[in-house]
Amino acid sequence: MNILLVYPCVPETFWSFTHALKVVRRKAAYPPLGALTVAALLPNHWNKRLIDMNVTELRDDDLAWADYVFISAMIAQRISTRKVVDRCLRIGVKTVGGGPLFRTCPGEFTDVDHLFLGEAESSINELVRDIEEQRPRRMYPASEYPSLDTSPIPLWDLINLNDYAAMSIQYSRGCPFNCEFCDVIVMNGRLPRLKRKEQVLAELEALYSRGWRGSVFIVDDNFIGNKAAVKELLPEIISWQKGRRQCFNFFTEASVNLADDPHLMSLMADAGFNKVFLGLETPSEESLRECGKMQNLSRSMSAAVSTIHSHGLAVMGGFIIGFDSDPPDIFQRQINFIQKNGIVTAMIGLLTAIPGTRLYSRLEGEGRLLYSTSGGDNTDAGGSLNFITKMDRAQIIDGYKRLMNNIYSPESFYRRVLAFLQAYRPSSKTYIEKNDLMTFARSLWHLGVKDKDWRSYYWRLLQKSVFKYQDSFSDMITMSIYGYHFRKLFWAPDLPQNTSWRS
Ligand code: SF4
Repeated sequence: MNILLVYPCVPETFWSFTHALKVVRRKAAYPPLGALTVAALLPNHWNKRLIDMNVTELRDDDLAWADYVFISAMIAQRISTRKVVDRCLRIGVKTVGGGPLFRTCPGEFTDVDHLFLGEAESSINELVRDIEEQRPRRMYPASEYPSLDTSPIPLWDLINLNDYAAMSIQYSRGCPFNCEFCDVIVMNGRLPRLKRKEQVLAELEALYSRGWRGSVFIVDDNFIGNKAAVKELLPEIISWQKGRRQCFNFFTEASVNLADDPHLMSLMADAGFNKVFLGLETPSEESLRECGKMQNLSRSMSAAVSTIHSHGLAVMGGFIIGFDSDPPDIFQRQINFIQKNGIVTAMIGLLTAIPGTRLYSRLEGEGRLLYSTSGGDNTDAGGSLNFITKMDRAQIIDGYKRLMNNIYSPESFYRRVLAFLQAYRPSSKTYIEKNDLMTFARSLWHLGVKDKDWRSYYWRLLQKSVFKYQDSFSDMITMSIYGYHFRKLFWAPDLPQNTSWRS
């Protein structure tokens, strides 16, 4: 049996880091972890190949080789996925679709031969058996949430690790919170399911033994969803890293209650974590209450960010505009919050109602849904906000564009990096390898010479890092490279900035 796993193109979005990849000379930000895990669950005697269209061209010959093409896609990959399905139909090869795109919008893919709507570990054996017996069903619906106890090590040999800026592993699925807009808890549930410590260490070893060094993204919905278990895992990672010269720098996603637990933050920093993405959403308490983000409400979010920075974890923040309760000055308040707290990487999205979420049901009940899903890029002002908004729609989109333009202008970005450097206390040694030195050299050329909008700020930051913030030097370089990408996406120097974070 010949199986071709295909990972369609990720469009240029906040998370694609397309422009930053040119500086670090990698082809894609992250590997297709889901497809690699599915590959590992398929029988050994099946022939498997994987084409990640973000690093390799998909040729008709590749499709013709396959008995089945397994397509794994997120919602943002919708357009490329459609094209792959059409090509398979033209060539006459059978298709199997899996991942969040097919799970959220199965009705859009009635021409995919087999839809796998659950997690791979749940019923892939059924699909395999049915394919071998030549009687596969059309639908393999999501059954119960499977245990991750038997989740295998991804089949890393199907890709070239050096095509990617970071590697990924997954420790848990699910999150105990209940935010109204969140589709993660619809897909993965509210009871965190965990891999065993031995599984996590085996996955790290698999990457290490293949020569990987540097960044590893732990792609959990909420890494600290089960704090007690994480506190048992982290010491194991600490001793594993010690035996390998702290070879990995980790980053992950967590909830803001991380700030309540100094022991947990210290363990994370000691294990080599240096960044954490938090869903901060909004400084408006009314809007937090509306979306059920209770964990952000009973605290000062500024103090939480500052505490996390002081424990050596750089906060990347997720923010949302478009809540019913957003006051008219929400744009300025978001800018003030992000700037003041030195949240250098701030992903601000427009609210989108994803099918299956509580938000979707509410808006549907209120007769306010305009269309069922957007393109999956919630920074796309034309495609998100798929409902009738309370604030005037044009006002939201205009305010949003000005907000993005403001925070990603060179001046604002520079001030934010400075605010971050003042608060950040890195406690673990960041792993530096030959490639990082090459990246630094390339950043000197791209950001320090070619980039006329940024270069004066870049040299000022270099100077400050060398004389005052030596321990944060590599973080500053990484942030500047990220900033290059964000500026290309969101900064329009001609757009008048009548919103100013300093006012
Ligand atoms: S904390 Fe994050 S992952 Fe958890 S329910 Fe809220 S948005 Fe979803």
